[in-house]
Amino acid sequence: MDAAFITDWIDEITRLVAGEREHLTALDAAIGDADHGANLDRGFAAVRAALSARPPGTPGDALVLLGGTLIRKVGGASGPLYGTFFRQAGKSLGDSPEVSPAELAAALTDGLAAVRALGSAEQGDKTMVDALTPAVRALEQALQDGAGRRKAFDAAARAAEEGARATVPLRARKGRASYLGERSMGHLDPGAASSALIMRALHISAS
Ligand code: ADP
Ligand code: MG
Ligand code: MG
Repeated sequence: MDAAFITDWIDEITRLVAGEREHLTALDAAIGDADHGANLDRGFAAVRAALSARPPGTPGDALVLLGGTLIRKVGGASGPLYGTFFRQAGKSLGDSPEVSPAELAAALTDGLAAVRALGSAEQGDKTMVDALTPAVRALEQALQDGAGRRKAFDAAARAAEEGARATVPLRARKGRASYLGERSMGHLDPGAASSALIMRALHISAS
């Protein structure tokens, strides 16, 4: 997979986020401040502009540009967290012009570790970590089991979607939703929902 593959992934995320903008905002209205859809839509639009201005030469460059732009352009918790996820993944890929699915999986695992270090959220705290953790685990596992890229990305997306759904009954322990205590229960976490979109976009871009 080359830089163009990663920019296709970014384009697909941008499309899905734009389409789900109102839904993400409604989820955040229930347990946050109703800006998650707008935050991500604005962030990914800025990423699109940055990619056109300076087309990346490698997958690592593309992910570092994505991450850095989200950190700079998205106010709110999700900007620095997603920014760190992608930037760390990009740094882990280094400067190879082509990367394998297994290399991308390892890089995303590194990205997730950086998110956990920054936000200190564990699985079960009702955050994006609840979707990203099973997703990268499923991705690594599927590839180890010999699945092709498309199938492995689908497994990752399905694991993220399931992880996101599983946030509904949980009580939030990190971020704005944690201020609500028990009233955060019974709602899907917006960041977990957007993480599922990010993983589904990876599957779509490989199809
Ligand atoms: P804000 O809460 O600042 O308005 P967003 O609405 O864009 O930011 O993003 C909220 C999402 O960020 C939450 O749904 C949750 O998934 C994620 N989040 C918040 N705090 C943390 C954290 N410490 N670790 C991981 N994810 C977090
Ligand atoms: Mg918010
Ligand atoms: Mg906010």
